[in-house]
Amino acid sequence: MWDVVVVGARVAGAATALLQARQGARVLLVDRVRFPSDTLSTHQVQPAGIDILERWGLLKALGDAPGHERVRFDIDGTLIEGAFPGGGRLYSPRRTVLDTALVQAAADAGAEVVQGYHVAGLLRDDDGRVTGIRGRDGSEHRAGLVVGADGKHSLVAREVRARTVVEAPVRTVASYSYWEGVEIGHGELYHRPGRAVAAFPTNGGLTMVYACAPVGEFDEWRRDPEAGLVQTLDRCGDLGDRVRAGKRVERVRTTNDLPNRIREATGPGWALVGDARMVMDPVTAQGISNALRDAEQVADRTRMFRITQRIARLTPPGGILRPLLKAVARSDAATTRFLGIFAGTVTTALPWGGRSRTPRAACPR
Ligand SMILES: Cc1cc2nc3c(=O)[nH]c(=O)nc-3n(C[C@H](O)[C@H](O)[C@H](O)COP(=O)(O)OP(=O)(O)OC[C@H]3O[C@@H](n4cnc5c(N)ncnc54)[C@H](O)[C@@H]3O)c2cc1C
Repeated sequence: MWDVVVVGARVAGAATALLQARQGARVLLVDRVRFPSDTLSTHQVQPAGIDILERWGLLKALGDAPGHERVRFDIDGTLIEGAFPGGGRLYSPRRTVLDTALVQAAADAGAEVVQGYHVAGLLRDDDGRVTGIRGRDGSEHRAGLVVGADGKHSLVAREVRARTVVEAPVRTVASYSYWEGVEIGHGELYHRPGRAVAAFPTNGGLTMVYACAPVGEFDEWRRDPEAGLVQTLDRCGDLGDRVRAGKRVERVRTTNDLPNRIREATGPGWALVGDARMVMDPVTAQGISNALRDAEQVADRTRMFRITQRIARLTPPGGILRPLLKAVARSDAATTRFLGIFAGTVTTALPWGGRSRTPRAACPR
């Protein structure tokens, strides 16, 4: 019996498993793929997402992707170029790098990670409450909480019939690829009538180049995605020339599978995080940061729930808790963090490590 089973082990799932395991929960993290594994994503992580990784001590998950304090945003000829607030940095790590590092971090924190495991359905009790997962191989795993981090076509969301709260039509078709030898400093963003473009340095000295067009142009665009991509760059100053001076080193990926949808996030025995909960057009590059934020929100709720169950037992602090509390009492800084947990202003301190003995205590309801 697990406290938490997480379905999907990329940014939302690995991060959720990591934080739950750091709280001392028994966590199973499964994914049908094996890491390192790529996925369709142009992978800019906004400064808000980078702040989260930094708070978790995981900046190393970015590998050798360069960080950018400045960005150049050309909106139909109006140039907005400058620094992010508070010295924030944007990075664009390959998903083969970022996701693999997060999976490893979850395992290091104590989560059991099973790769190549395809979830086929959910288990339920007589009241319809979700109680676990069933694999394609027929295996079953029971849990106090099942987290669907299984992306925009989430099986978990489908099985629990999570309601769609907001939905908008698909608006764009997106293409991107990787070039070496492109002269580029910090990230560049362009908006032109009917087009948006981004070019960002990423791991291994490569530059990721992305362009999108209205989804109605999909058939025409996919006949020659490279031409669509590179010709679009010619609308962006000398970017087309700079990209052509380099060498494309990977295939051009193109997709119109870009839904815009927000689903309800929790129900009896289940929660959704990442794209399973909210997916939107990548033109604003928010999905990865949202996924990390979701993991933190679930962790905050479950942590306070577990702490409250512990305190509500009204038993004297046992085990390592008593010396820990004495150490907190001796330090002004630790006391401030301790009080911050109850004040709701400290989210990362975990003074109540140790395993939950009542698996249902993992449910955030
Ligand atoms: C073209 C494109 C460009 C993008 N660019 C950016 C960008 O620049 N910046 C940004 O922040 N976001 C971007 N995004 C969005 C970003 O990729 C997603 O928001 C992010 O990947 C969501 O992460 P996730 O962990 O929720 O889901 P996913 O990354 O979709 O991972 C879901 C995982 O669940 C697993 N899974 C699914 N079903 C099962 C099952 N039944 N059993 C076991 N495992 C299962 C899958 O194998 C997968 O590994 C882009 C998206 C696209 C399509």
